[in-house]
Amino acid sequence: MTSEKSIFTRIIEGEIPCFKVFENDYVYSFLDINPVSHGHVLVIPKEPAQFLHELSPESSSELGKALSIISKSITEVTGATSYNIIQNNGSQAGQTVFHVHFHIIPKYPESTHSFPWKTMEIDKKEASELAQKISHNME
Ligand code: AMP
Repeated sequence: MTSEKSIFTRIIEGEIPCFKVFENDYVYSFLDINPVSHGHVLVIPKEPAQFLHELSPESSSELGKALSIISKSITEVTGATSYNIIQNNGSQAGQTVFHVHFHIIPKYPESTHSFPWKTMEIDKKEASELAQKISHNME
């Protein structure tokens, strides 16, 4: 990550305007400027980091709490009964702003947007080894 401030840090610091919906000591949240649907909101940590796995435990846990609270408010205000939460890490995964952010994107009966992906068949032997490796790596 470069030392240059991201556009989202500049929003948190009030240098760039936004349509704010939530703020506490760890989290900031505002409407996406190019919404996929009505009520598309971004939820970001105040801590500057590009990747989710770089965040402190405090930021991660506060983000989890805020996501639930903000999602509830969005559904109540917009009437949407479905929504997606999307979080891109790295440019190959579609990240364009290199400051961690979660998209909350309401889905309405008339919505046409989708987030398609292609699945593959799992190799059970390889899956078993992989699950163990990931698990042991966290010990
Ligand atoms: P991503 O492609 O996951 O990195 O998403 C970045 C998101 O940030 C996009 O959906 C943009 O529309 C949104 N965005 C970029 N600049 C601003 C801004 N100044 N205010 C609100 N949303 C922004």
